[in-house]
Amino acid sequence: MIVALGASLAVLAVLFAVYNAPHLPQTYGVCELQGIGVKVMLPSDKKYNSTRLDTFAAQMGAKEYIYPRLSPSAIVFPRSEEDVIKVIKFAAECEYYVSVKSGGHGYTGSASCFGTKCIQIDMEKMDDIEINDGVAKVESGVRLHNLINSLIFHKIFIPHGMCKYVGVGGHFQSSANGFGAHSFGSGMDYVTSLRLVMANGTAVTLTRTGPDVALYKAVLGSSPGSWGVVIHYTFEAIRDEDFPHTKLIYRKFPYSKSLLRKALGQIDFIAKDQEQRGLRDLFVIADYGHFPHLFDFLPDIPLLGPLSKYFDFEKDLNVYVGVIGLWTGIDSGEMTQNWTDLYIKPFDELADLSFPDAFDLPAPLSIATSPAMTFDTLGETYRRHLASIHTDHWWSDEFLDILTEEFDRKTKIPDTLLTVQYFPRGHSSQWYRNSGMNGINWRDTRPFMDDWFMFKNDSLAAHYALSIDEFYAKNRKHWQYSDGTTRRTFMSPPTTIPDSSNLRDPRTAQHFFANASEFRALRVLKTAVDPKGMFASVGTIPCL
Ligand SMILES: Cc1cc2nc3c(=O)[nH]c(=O)nc-3n(C[C@H](O)[C@H](O)[C@H](O)COP(=O)(O)OP(=O)(O)OC[C@H]3O[C@@H](n4cnc5c(N)ncnc54)[C@H](O)[C@@H]3O)c2cc1C
Repeated sequence: MIVALGASLAVLAVLFAVYNAPHLPQTYGVCELQGIGVKVMLPSDKKYNSTRLDTFAAQMGAKEYIYPRLSPSAIVFPRSEEDVIKVIKFAAECEYYVSVKSGGHGYTGSASCFGTKCIQIDMEKMDDIEINDGVAKVESGVRLHNLINSLIFHKIFIPHGMCKYVGVGGHFQSSANGFGAHSFGSGMDYVTSLRLVMANGTAVTLTRTGPDVALYKAVLGSSPGSWGVVIHYTFEAIRDEDFPHTKLIYRKFPYSKSLLRKALGQIDFIAKDQEQRGLRDLFVIADYGHFPHLFDFLPDIPLLGPLSKYFDFEKDLNVYVGVIGLWTGIDSGEMTQNWTDLYIKPFDELADLSFPDAFDLPAPLSIATSPAMTFDTLGETYRRHLASIHTDHWWSDEFLDILTEEFDRKTKIPDTLLTVQYFPRGHSSQWYRNSGMNGINWRDTRPFMDDWFMFKNDSLAAHYALSIDEFYAKNRKHWQYSDGTTRRTFMSPPTTIPDSSNLRDPRTAQHFFANASEFRALRVLKTAVDPKGMFASVGTIPCL
């Protein structure tokens, strides 16, 4: 007994001594990922699988297609610019490709790695927002809902999109397109400078007027992720007080085919009428299909977070036609009764609605533009496909009829959800007027439509993709550009077409850069700033 007790005490003493011994730093070989000096997650890690799939792209199309495209050799989580530089130097020395993820809301997995020796830099820990006197410095790991909440607090606005969990890092490179587009343009147009860590391991500040203006413009709008790691953006914001007539207009109609067609017609009329008058006052979009709950549109509540998480939306499987408008009065001031009669009354004649399905809410600009949808909750257990079409000319009535018929057909497919966003804008819009400010090359777009299709059965992904593509191919003459091309954007690259954003394929590149000399100039720039093509993922600009 005494011997056993003595032995146990001796074992405990040894364990205690080992536990308290000074920890010698573990040493790693030069190119061992564990030695990178920044928090790193490897495929052997328990959380690696859920982390690599924690991206919107993981739900797009068939798992068997998309999962292999989300396979980094390692995921790193920098906390500072110095950390990012460490990773880039490591990648250069050890010949890794690099991809960057901020909010993980790219549709095609462009923030991840596919089949190469490649490190994914996850910016989630770099999420600071500093706002002083109307100037906002925003780190790229910030999500839109946090940005929106801070803007509201400071009574300022930067144009942004309509999904709460989109990351700032990709958003202000791909589009930043939302309710503010008609009156104010893209959020990118408000970036006065940005901080970028480049492939040579140095950090630069790029500005509108600096010597590197070509790179500044390329980062903002050409192809996200191609140029380096964006650490933060600095924005000059718009002040709420300069737009005292701002109003949010909201209608949610129970769906019928004829009501949808009439609503689309009126939205079209508003966009054309604003263009003809040279005005930028009112932007109205249709958002129809299985509809997010009203609470989804509200800013998050401090401490409680998004109200949507307290409700189970999938129980409401009815189809709705949402009409959402933003009047800023930037050109005409107050929304007078005449404007209401011309633009809004025709909607009210479609059906008798009352609050909360219908309201016109005078509100500060930062609040009126905050409605943000959470597709993350709508259909989160479904697989998704997205088709996206847009054109430089107004669509014909015949095509709006065809689109309505097709939508109606799809509402009858069992076990599926639909949501479509239709947002036409004319050439009087600030979106169009800001052409050339940066790399966005779809300023001449008039109608734009994102067509989402969600389905339960993974094995039907290819079948649905084909039928969606066949529909759009059959109707190509209605939505091709005036020069006969069909275009894609990095806001909404389609997932119904495999490799839809692979710029290494010249036939695909043409959809994003119809102007061949523009694409060539970007390739020359890429070769100069990233000669070995370190930043290479789905959709990045290839070196020459
Ligand atoms: C449900 C949903 C709704 C959307 N709604 C809108 C909308 O209303 N308006 C709109 O304009 N867009 C919208 N988008 C598109 C979205 O803005 C783009 O996909 C955007 O690029 C996503 O940015 P992210 O950082 O979340 O995505 P990620 O997948 O992390 O990144 C997208 C791309 O940007 C690159 N990137 C990300 N961060 C950095 C960084 N710090 N440095 C360098 N490169 C980086 C990535 O490498 C990748 O190529 C929506 C997307 C989804 C999924």
